[in-house]
Amino acid sequence: MARALLIDVDGTLTVGGRPVDGAPQALASLRRAGIPFLLVTNTTRFPLRQLVADLSRQGFSVHPDEVFPALRASARFLRRKGWNPVWPLVVPAAMEDLTGLKIAEEGAEAVLVGDLGEEWNFDLLNRALQALHNGAELVAIHKNRTWRTGEGLMLDTGPFVAALEYAADVKAHVVGKPSDLFYREAADILSASFEEIVSVGDDVESDVASVIALKGQGVLVRTGKYVPGQEDRAKVPPTDVLDSIASLPKWLGL
Ligand SMILES: [Mg+2]
Repeated sequence: MARALLIDVDGTLTVGGRPVDGAPQALASLRRAGIPFLLVTNTTRFPLRQLVADLSRQGFSVHPDEVFPALRASARFLRRKGWNPVWPLVVPAAMEDLTGLKIAEEGAEAVLVGDLGEEWNFDLLNRALQALHNGAELVAIHKNRTWRTGEGLMLDTGPFVAALEYAADVKAHVVGKPSDLFYREAADILSASFEEIVSVGDDVESDVASVIALKGQGVLVRTGKYVPGQEDRAKVPPTDVLDSIASLPKWLGL
């Protein structure tokens, strides 16, 4: 039996800003059964506080400690590495999640690259390059290539990380999903080994295969970005496939 769960948010608990049918109840069953879980997400455009408020508006009762966004993983990773000060290239709203870090551009030991969207510009990229050239480590909240919006496909954080890697001839520490760094920080918070962890999500690679590679279990849900028949074509077959997160309590034998 699973001793701890990692549950993806977008596409698994919610789809298009609405809760998946039965998802709030599934989460409530886990809590009643005393199974610890972390809600995991690469979203970094909003602070943790807002993620929790959005979830609560959608009927999920969650504590901030139960939500583990890539930004929180990055802050934890940076504190553990002791790189100080950190120069974060993130939207102002995200700054409140970088607790316990000394923030400065001058003398930065790490440049943290997050979602800046349209705030990216040549000057900022060039200053980041100079910081890296002066020995700062490059840390990326994630390295997603693109994201889909109402106006079509947009550049995500990945292309900017790649530009800095290329210019400074360094390799970024990528912290968000599907990085091992992310899952290791999450397992550490849950005080669980991967053998005890089940990851549940709609992304057959990021949520499922990455955790199976670490010797955990990965359960795919047929909601969100799921494409019918995906599990049969996957390089790493999921441990199991569920119609939605609503079936999880039953799958766990609760
Ligand atoms: Mg997802």
